[in-house]
Amino acid sequence: MKTNPPVEKNEYMDVQFVDLTHEGAGVAKIDGFPIFVPNALPDEKAQIKITRVKKGYAFGRLMEIKEKSLHRQEAPCPVYKQCGGCQLQHLTYAGQLAFKEKQVRDVLERIGKLDMSRVTVHPTLGMDEPWRYRNKAQVPLGEREGALIAGFYQQRTHEIINMDACLIQHEKNDQAVQAIKDICNQFGLRAYEEARHKGWFRHIMVRYGVNTGEMMIVFITKTNDFPHKKAILEKIIERFPAVKSIVQNVNPKRTNVIFGDETNVLWGEEYIYDTIGDIRFAISARSFYQVNPEQTKVLYDKALEYAELTGKETVIDAYCGIGTISLFLAKKAEKVYGVEIVPEAIEDAKRNAELNNITNAEFAAGEAEAVIPNWYEQGIKADTIVVDPPRKGCDEALLRTILDMKPKRVVYVSCNPGTLARDLRVLEDGGYETQEVQPVDMFPHTMHVECVARLTLKS
Ligand code: SAH
Repeated sequence: MKTNPPVEKNEYMDVQFVDLTHEGAGVAKIDGFPIFVPNALPDEKAQIKITRVKKGYAFGRLMEIKEKSLHRQEAPCPVYKQCGGCQLQHLTYAGQLAFKEKQVRDVLERIGKLDMSRVTVHPTLGMDEPWRYRNKAQVPLGEREGALIAGFYQQRTHEIINMDACLIQHEKNDQAVQAIKDICNQFGLRAYEEARHKGWFRHIMVRYGVNTGEMMIVFITKTNDFPHKKAILEKIIERFPAVKSIVQNVNPKRTNVIFGDETNVLWGEEYIYDTIGDIRFAISARSFYQVNPEQTKVLYDKALEYAELTGKETVIDAYCGIGTISLFLAKKAEKVYGVEIVPEAIEDAKRNAELNNITNAEFAAGEAEAVIPNWYEQGIKADTIVVDPPRKGCDEALLRTILDMKPKRVVYVSCNPGTLARDLRVLEDGGYETQEVQPVDMFPHTMHVECVARLTLKS
C-alpha cells in the first residue's frame, strides 16, 4: 500500500469491485488501496466519485454502473435507500447467502487464524420465503401536518419517514401499526418530539406469536397518562381479535433508548405465548425473544445436533435469555444449568420450564463469567457448554473457565462472526478444535449473519 492515498476527494474514476464489506458496501482497490462504495457489488465495473479520503482507505459514491453483477436485482422495497434497515436488497437472495458464507470463512481465517483446511464452513441455511419474517415491529412516531406518522428514522438523521409497509415485517404487525396510528389520529394523540422533549407517543411495539396467533401491543410513551384510553383500547381489541395483551411502557427520559423502567398492563395478560418446536414460551414486553421464528428453529436444531446429547449429560447454557435453548437441551440431557444477566429473563426462564413440565433445568441470574466459575467451584462440571453471547462475544474470564472445566464439547452460537473468530482462537489455543461452522440466515436482506460452531476437546 502506498503511503500517500492514490485518490483525491471529488475525483471521478472507473473501478472494478472485488469484494463486499460486512456492512454491505462494495470494495474496489487502487494499487491495493481500498475504496468503499455503498450499493456496489463484487464483479461490477462502475464510475465512482470519491467522497472522503482517509489515510488507509477512502469512500466513494456510485455514479454509473458500467457492467452489472449477475447477482444485482432491483430492491423490492420502495424505501430501501432511505431506511437503511436492510443493506442487501440489491443483491439476489442466493447472492446474499453466498456472501454470508464467504464472510464467515474470511473472518475465521483473518481474525481467528483458524486452519481453514480443517474447519468446514457449510453453505448458509436460508429461508424458502425470505420476506415478512420478523415477529416484532418497533416503530418510532412523529407528526406531519399535525397528524401522527409512524415509520423509521431516515438514515443518519433524526427525521421520521412515514412507512405503510415493511417487507421483512409480518403482515399482521404492519396492519396493527397502521391501525393504531389511524385510531390514535382519530383521537388527536400527539407524538413525542425529540428536539423539544415534548409530546407523548414515542414508539409502538407489536409482537406476534406466529405459531400461536397471539399478539402483544406496547405503547411507549413519555408520561404514564393515556388520553382516551378506554375508547382507543376498545377499537384495537375490536379490530384485532389476535390481541391478547396491551401494555404501556413509560420512558420520561431524554434518550435514544426505547424503553423506560415502568411497564403497566392496560388490558389482557402480561404475556403472550409462542411455541418453538414443541416448547411453549411466555414472552413479556421486555424479554429478549428471537425475531425470526422460522430460522430460530433451524438455529436451535443445529445447536442441539452439535451438542450430541445422549440423555446422560450435564449441560451449561450461558447467556440463556428466557431459557429458549436451555429448554430444548433439557429434553435430551440429564441436567441443564442456564445463566443470564437480566433477572426478569431468568424469571421468565423458570416459568417457561414449569409451563413445559421440564424439571431438570435450573436457572441463575448473573454474569456468565461470574456464575459459571462459582458453579465450577461447587463441583458442577459440564459435559457440554453452549454459549450464545451478545455481539461483543464471550468475556475472557468465561473462556478461561471453559478451559479449566474442559467440557468435551462446546457449542458456540454467535450473532457476530468477528467476536466468534476471536473467541475460537482462544479456545483452540487452550486445546479445542473447531470442527464445523454453520451460518444461518436469521435476518435476510440485512448484513447480519448468525452462526453455530461445534468444538471438541482434543484428547
Ligand atoms: N440464548 C438466548 C439469548 C441470546 S441473546 C436466545 O436464543 O433467546 C444474548 C443474551 O445474553 C441476552 O439475553 C443478554 O441479556 C445476555 N447477556 C449479556 N451479557 C451477559 C453476561 N455477561 N452474562 C450473562 N448473560 C449476558
